[in-house]
Amino acid sequence: MSRISYVNGAYVPHTEAVVHIDDRGYQFADAVYEGVTVRHGRMVDLEPHLDRLWRSMGELRIAPPMDRAPMRFVFSQVIAKNRIENGFLYIQISRGVAKRDHAFPTKPVASSLVVTLKRLDVDGVIARAGKGVKAFSEADIRWGRCDVKSTSLLPNILAKQAAKEKGGFEAVLVDKDGYVTEGSSTNMWIVRKDGVVQTRSTADNILPGITRATLLKLAAELQIKVVEEAFTLEDAKGATEMFLSSSTGCATPIVELDGQKIGDGTPGPIAKRLVEAYQRYMDA
Ligand code: PMP
Repeated sequence: MSRISYVNGAYVPHTEAVVHIDDRGYQFADAVYEGVTVRHGRMVDLEPHLDRLWRSMGELRIAPPMDRAPMRFVFSQVIAKNRIENGFLYIQISRGVAKRDHAFPTKPVASSLVVTLKRLDVDGVIARAGKGVKAFSEADIRWGRCDVKSTSLLPNILAKQAAKEKGGFEAVLVDKDGYVTEGSSTNMWIVRKDGVVQTRSTADNILPGITRATLLKLAAELQIKVVEEAFTLEDAKGATEMFLSSSTGCATPIVELDGQKIGDGTPGPIAKRLVEAYQRYMDA
C-alpha cells in the first residue's frame, strides 16, 4: 500500500503528492513546518506543536490555511489512512503559489498545506538513547530568527552533513563567542559537575523545542534542578553528561563530542531518568 499524503485539500498517494513549481515554499523556503511524533496512533504534544505552528505563521505573516480544528482532523485522517502506529507526522505550510517575486504577493493567495507521515521506530529511538551518540561542533551560521520554525534550513543541513561525514549523529552549533546554541535539529543540554542541568534559554535565538518544554516539566517532577542559561563548548566538554532533545530524539545522551568523551563516555544517570520519564509520558 502506498503512503497517503495530504496536499491542499486532497488525500493522495505519496508518489503523486506534488506542489506547484511557483509555490513560495519551493522557490524561497517561504514556509513553516512542524514535526510531531505519533506513538501508538496518538500525536505526542499536539497542542504545543499547533501553538508553535500558529506562532511561526504569525511571525512571518503567513495566513493559516484553515482553523485548528479542521487541521487536527486532517492530521488524524492522515494517520488513519496510513495505518501507522508509530510515526513522524510532517506538516508544512507555505505562503502559497504566486509569480516569483521576493516581496509578498500583492493579491492575497491561499497558503499551501502539506501533511505527510512516515514510520518512526520509536522503540529504536529509546534503544539509541540507551547507548548514546557522538556529536561534532560546527559553527552556527544561521540568522537572527531561529525561534521561527521555518523551512530555511540550509545552515542546519550543512552542519548536520559535516557532522555526519565525521561519524557523528548530530552537529552541536556554536556561535562566534563559543556558546552552544542548539543542534542542527535538536536542543542541547548539559549536566554540570554540581549536578545542575543547564540548557540555553529560548529567549536567546533558538527554537523553543516542544520536547525541551516537556523535559523541563518532567525534570521539575523528578526534582532535577535545571537552569536556563547559555553554556560554552568548553563547558560541554567538561560536563558530566550531555544530551540532545527533539520530538524524534527524546533525550538522547551525547557520549562523545569532537572525539572527546563526555563524563565516562556512557549515558549518565540524569539523562537515563529523563528518557524513562519521557517514555512513560509518551506511553501514558
Ligand atoms: N532545534 C531545532 C533547530 C530543530 O529543528 C528542532 C526540531 N524541530 C528542535 C530544536 C527540537 O524541537 P522539538 O523538540 O520541538 O522537536
